[in-house]
Amino acid sequence: MLNKTFVTNIHRSSTDGQSFVRCSFVSRNQLHMMVRMPQEFTNGSLEKIATQVRGCTLCKLSRSRKNAVPGEGQLPAKIMLIGEAPGKNEDEKGQPFVGAAGKALDLALEKSGIPRQSVFITNIVKCRPPDNRIPEPEERIACRPYLDRQISLISPQIICILGNTAYSSLLGGKSVMADRGKILKRDGQKYLITIHPAAAIYNRNFRSVLEDDLSLLGQEIEKRQKNSVRSRSLDNLEGYTQQREQQQGPGKEKKRTMKKKRNKK
Ligand code: URA
Ligand code: SF4
Repeated sequence: MLNKTFVTNIHRSSTDGQSFVRCSFVSRNQLHMMVRMPQEFTNGSLEKIATQVRGCTLCKLSRSRKNAVPGEGQLPAKIMLIGEAPGKNEDEKGQPFVGAAGKALDLALEKSGIPRQSVFITNIVKCRPPDNRIPEPEERIACRPYLDRQISLISPQIICILGNTAYSSLLGGKSVMADRGKILKRDGQKYLITIHPAAAIYNRNFRSVLEDDLSLLGQEIEKRQKNSVRSRSLDNLEGYTQQREQQQGPGKEKKRTMKKKRNKK
């Protein structure tokens, strides 16, 4: 029987071409187990969304795009970055943030100690708007289910909102400049608000703003990791004390409390 259970880590691997997830559980008796998770929690399902995006014709952006840009990254990803829309380079390559804004983003990620391969990067709309105009409300709405499915599959510890379009689309925010560096919680999901990397291409001050804000992402992840290690070791300690009591009887501290109780009676 598992009294308390913590999922300590989730490994994704592939055997016989099949995708599965291995979970290690730490319970009071240090039980480890292997479980097969449904396909919907694996990279295969992210790829399924990507395939649907590449063939999507739900809005008029499909007519002018060269390549749709579903997003990039592997499960598990603790951080998800969400920008506005693919630009010219992204449209050509089918990958997000690979042009000048992408370079500014890469630099800020590197300075903040966050490897790009460890995050999932995508946009509010997956196809390039002509002349890089801001995506229209109908286009954002048509494309939203893809993003929602990506978020629920990835289940990131924090979502980093890059710029005003992502801010207004996801949280109804008005000004990234007014709210940058803030961490907000909505419906149990944490968001960090920051500027769009394109703003940091030519402006040194914005470059430091982006770096400072992305550093907060790393700190949030570390904080959470420390808390989960702490609660795991507390649980192990509790389990250890119970086991020891069963084997050797109560420890000194417990004997003292029991004696006090007896004296009171
Ligand atoms: N700007 C964005 O918002 N997204 C990209 O992928 C590239 C530039
Ligand atoms: Fe489909 Fe989104 Fe591309 Fe529009 S922007 S065609 S909804 S994938």
